[in-house]
Amino acid sequence: MVCLNLPVETRYLEENMYLVGIIPGPQEPSLEQINHVIRPLVDDLLKFWETGVFVKATPRYPDGRLVRCALVPLVCDLPAARQMGGFASHAAIHFCSFCDLSLREIDNLDEKTWPMRTREGHMEAALKWKNARSETQRLNLFNESGVRYSELLRLPYWDPTRFTVLDTMHSLLLGDLKLSPSPWVIHSSYIALIREST
Ligand SMILES: [Zn+2]
Repeated sequence: MVCLNLPVETRYLEENMYLVGIIPGPQEPSLEQINHVIRPLVDDLLKFWETGVFVKATPRYPDGRLVRCALVPLVCDLPAARQMGGFASHAAIHFCSFCDLSLREIDNLDEKTWPMRTREGHMEAALKWKNARSETQRLNLFNESGVRYSELLRLPYWDPTRFTVLDTMHSLLLGDLKLSPSPWVIHSSYIALIREST
């Protein structure tokens, strides 16, 4: 984790980054196992949000200092972002983490017609998925909404529909948009640009 209060030139120095954990291999966790991995982190983040954590002394504050923090942007490559946020895969019918356009409408570039996702709608679908009474019901709900429960939803302020950052590393820096401008990449990059400008 990186503290965004720090200036950008010091933010990513080794001594200023916090390694939360390393997930053991040999394979990546399944879509649902990831929730077990991030639960302790969410527990800590809740403490920092609700009451804050009092640090007894620091070099500048010998009498101690209350520290509060919030997790805002989720920066991952695409598959990991979908797992962490509780979204379906980018190849699923519900392919987009920002809007609810279906895969067969992916060529629609008129953003005024895109049904944008909301935190409330996402939360409702995620809780239904979490409270499903059987695996079959859970699967049906997931196919219907493209949403699963994520531990990150326990953070009262966290909005998966706004805070899941587009995978710019692959889309822009590694040139996916330039080399293979698939409808998905075009849609997502377009929506990121709209978000950036508003
Ligand atoms: Zn979209």
